[in-house]
Amino acid sequence: MSESSSSRCVVSEASTEVSNEVSAQEDGPEGFADLSELPVEVSERRPTCLRCCRPEKVCLCPFIPAEPLEVSTCLYIVQHPAEESRVLRTVPLLAACLPKGKCKVLIGRRFSDERHAELAAVCRDPHTLILYPGTDAVNLEDMNVDFTAIPHSVLIIDGTWSQAKDMFLRNALFRLPKQVQLNSAPSSQYVIRTQPTNMCLSTLECAAVTLSIMEKNQAIQEVLLKPLRALCSFQLQHGAQVHHSKEHLLKSGLYDKPLPKNKRKIKRMQKLITNQDV
Ligand SMILES: [Zn+2]
Repeated sequence: MSESSSSRCVVSEASTEVSNEVSAQEDGPEGFADLSELPVEVSERRPTCLRCCRPEKVCLCPFIPAEPLEVSTCLYIVQHPAEESRVLRTVPLLAACLPKGKCKVLIGRRFSDERHAELAAVCRDPHTLILYPGTDAVNLEDMNVDFTAIPHSVLIIDGTWSQAKDMFLRNALFRLPKQVQLNSAPSSQYVIRTQPTNMCLSTLECAAVTLSIMEKNQAIQEVLLKPLRALCSFQLQHGAQVHHSKEHLLKSGLYDKPLPKNKRKIKRMQKLITNQDV
């Protein structure tokens, strides 16, 4: 059984708007029949807050605005299936802060015209951007467009950096929108998950910076980062260790894992140290 289908046997607690075209079609009807016979993971039976998707005891709703933020930009989060089953997910927090129609989450590795007609149409819309850094990307901050006058959609890939890279390269649809990157993004505040470089932000942080630029409203960033700060501070108080980025650890000589034997991996780590595009 593939990684993606095993993660989907877990009863989803997400209140995020997951497009049903995704889960129904990835495995096909036969795949679903198998899944219904699998036992539900016991850990998922903890009472969970339906709004923030956190266990009720550590509900983050007090840090989420009472009313969804008013934004004209529509976010499409394309989420790697492995992200869905992670304990610490930032996308449900993001979705809880935004109006339902402005934050759509689609789960999968591969997206096509046939299976994902809405997403395909969005990718072909000239008012759609994809947030993915690289030499072909334009700095979002430098774009001379009034995003508040012309509503845009933004695709954000949710996954580890290698999953995101794989999804970007293997989905032709994702190369249709204008590619943008964040130039002025602060160092990640998401300290409990190792980031490959200091500039590598969680999906929630990326969305927060993107929306504050496009909506010309710095307050959006503050509102969206509030639940993330609360999540990190709670986890740290309860024994999670601060994860510095690999870049920080390598530069300060604190990276204690044995160096990989694989030459390609070593090269990639060296590139991380010198801030080259990896
Ligand atoms: Zn909650």
